[in-house]
Amino acid sequence: MPNTLHVDYELKTYDESMKIVEEAMEVARQEIPKGVVADYIPELGKADPNQLGICIYPLQGEKIELGDYKTRFTIQSISKIISLCVALELFGANKLFEIVEAEPSGEAFNSLVELDLNSNKPYNPLINSGAIAVAGLLIEEVSFHDMLRFSRELCDDKEIALNRKVYESEMSTCSRNRAIAYLLESKNIINSDVEDALRFYTKMCSLDVTAESLANFANRIANDGVGNITGKRYLSSETVRIVKTLMLTCGMYDGSGTYAVEVGIPTKSGVGGGLLAVSDKRAGIGVFGPSLDPKGNSIAGCRLLKEISNKLRLSLFFDTDYLKATRKDYSLNQKLHE
Ligand code: GLU
Repeated sequence: MPNTLHVDYELKTYDESMKIVEEAMEVARQEIPKGVVADYIPELGKADPNQLGICIYPLQGEKIELGDYKTRFTIQSISKIISLCVALELFGANKLFEIVEAEPSGEAFNSLVELDLNSNKPYNPLINSGAIAVAGLLIEEVSFHDMLRFSRELCDDKEIALNRKVYESEMSTCSRNRAIAYLLESKNIINSDVEDALRFYTKMCSLDVTAESLANFANRIANDGVGNITGKRYLSSETVRIVKTLMLTCGMYDGSGTYAVEVGIPTKSGVGGGLLAVSDKRAGIGVFGPSLDPKGNSIAGCRLLKEISNKLRLSLFFDTDYLKATRKDYSLNQKLHE
């Protein structure tokens, strides 16, 4: 088997990497009972909370796949990354940031309080208000069918399709998102048909994906928008730069700061239990675990990524001199107590 992942400067073999991921899965599984599946969309409430799967797709080497990595689930908020990519490619950053900011929000994913009281723009494109605003822009240029085609291409997964049951279940219970959409219209942020924008947004959330399809997409983002085998460019460097930055600062809702400290990998979550994580220049990672923490992020999935980030040293912020710096003679703690 070829080598797969770097840990510091040392290249781990496939078997060594797999062992690390297997151990991380065992630790992460223990978190499952502490979370609950989302049931505010009734169809999502039917998911088996005990599922957990991961696909790690390194830029060089074999995929590492474990558990329920082939199970289909709805992409939910991770679709905000696809819509953001398409909006940046079609309209450019200047036009996009006319309708949405790039600031983290300390509010829940479906909050409309800040938008109503404090701002004339949604805080960022990765919360519901921002993504519904982006949907209002996208429907001027593309159909849902176009988006389905882009999604299949970006995720290298021809099987991605609309999950009608989840879509209809969400459309019949989406008063909050509808309220957000009309608030955006009242502020002239949505100028297209507001119900069309809401349907488009909800359809994008209802695409069925797997952890593997998310890893394929993440791999391309990690490789500056280029397929690591074909060399084909899917996204511009500028789009990729903005998307990675927003994933790091805003991708985990009001849990983004803690997650950045604990894991340090740009990631986007969805209430279907998916996580799309981009370890820049190293690997794309897709995770599925439908038991969620109170912020709406996969509870076991986050723990799994935390373990893997620490073991494989994937955090963006690891000091490459870390090992040297923690040797006894470099210990700040020791110096303080000398
Ligand atoms: N379709 C979901 C909603 O709008 C997506 C939320 C999420 O995944 O966080 O409520």
